[in-house]
Amino acid sequence: MSLETYHTLRKIPVKGGFLYTKAGARGSQDPAYELLADHLEPHGQTALDLNPGIGLVTNALRQHGLRVQAIETSRASLRCLEASFGASVRVTRGLPWETEPDSTDLVALVLPANRGTRFVELSLLGAARALRAGGRLWMFGSKNKGFEHYFRLAQDWLGYGLLVRRDGPFRLAVVEKEKPAPVLPPVWRSFEWEFSGQKLLFSYLPGVFSGGQVDPGSAMLLRQLPHDLGHVLDIGGGYGALSCPLVGRAQCLTLLEDDWASVLCAQKNLGEQACVLHSDVDEALTKDQLFTTVITNPPFHVGDLVVLETATAFIEAAYARLERGGKFYLVANRFLPYEPLLESCFATVRTVAVDSHKVLMAQKLG
Ligand code: SAH
Repeated sequence: MSLETYHTLRKIPVKGGFLYTKAGARGSQDPAYELLADHLEPHGQTALDLNPGIGLVTNALRQHGLRVQAIETSRASLRCLEASFGASVRVTRGLPWETEPDSTDLVALVLPANRGTRFVELSLLGAARALRAGGRLWMFGSKNKGFEHYFRLAQDWLGYGLLVRRDGPFRLAVVEKEKPAPVLPPVWRSFEWEFSGQKLLFSYLPGVFSGGQVDPGSAMLLRQLPHDLGHVLDIGGGYGALSCPLVGRAQCLTLLEDDWASVLCAQKNLGEQACVLHSDVDEALTKDQLFTTVITNPPFHVGDLVVLETATAFIEAAYARLERGGKFYLVANRFLPYEPLLESCFATVRTVAVDSHKVLMAQKLG
């Protein structure tokens, strides 16, 4: 897939119209979204979709005549939501626990189980806080991904709950708000990490990649970098594990990240020392921005599936954004077949380290 194809929004038919989808966006052809969209029942006038992805459930709520707000973290998904709904839905970039208290009659939530327990629990708290008394939470999840635990928790925090549907491992439940919502606990955590004799302090939010410890692959990549780096681009920069140790070594740092929680972390960890952009791959850069060095530890999952389309877009963006002679460093699990992808763009591709992961270096013709 070319970078242009990656960035292209496609129309797909859904009940009552169409939605836009694109590579890297969640919630299209996903049974969780389809089942929740098909089976939820309207209640009251206003609804909040706390994990919309491309907006299948948001669309169903609109079809039921509700006024909908959709809160989403992913820039790729936000691009689709904005294109699909325009002004007819309040599309908000935000975190699922940052909801307006007592503001809505219904909350819909596909449990974001692959973002970890704390992220899901805080999403449920966000739902509990946003609902008015008598409001309803429609929650959808898999029994293999903690549904029972989350359903119990939702009942503790909200009130009476009913299991509405079972479909294989999937469960759909509705919970009514009968009690005041618990207060939001502190969400930020931090840890220290020493690299090259330098002590770094990282703050992070729930749901970000490798919160609490720097990923061993990222550490390996850092050890392979030359001292002089020039202008550095960090694609999929997370909370800044790769960029923070390079402050002072890079002439300037730009970090691109799709996930809003990670963007907030990177902004906190890097402050004025980097330009941190909420970006679907290189979408937030201007046309003419080029770099001397590009670094990445690319994602290879969407949910449980190994999906290389985003990583492929990272590689193509790295090539497109490098100056002539510039170098691209990528770290990956050893089983991932990135070499042919790199070889299809770059003149030189070398494996510079192999251990728990492999670090590949690709250079653009000078
Ligand atoms: N560089 C960080 C994070 C690596 S994990 C570290 O080394 O710790 C890969 C990161 O890519 C995740 O933070 C993920 O949110 C981000 N990502 C996924 N899809 C993306 C996209 N389309 N555009 C930009 N970033 C993306």
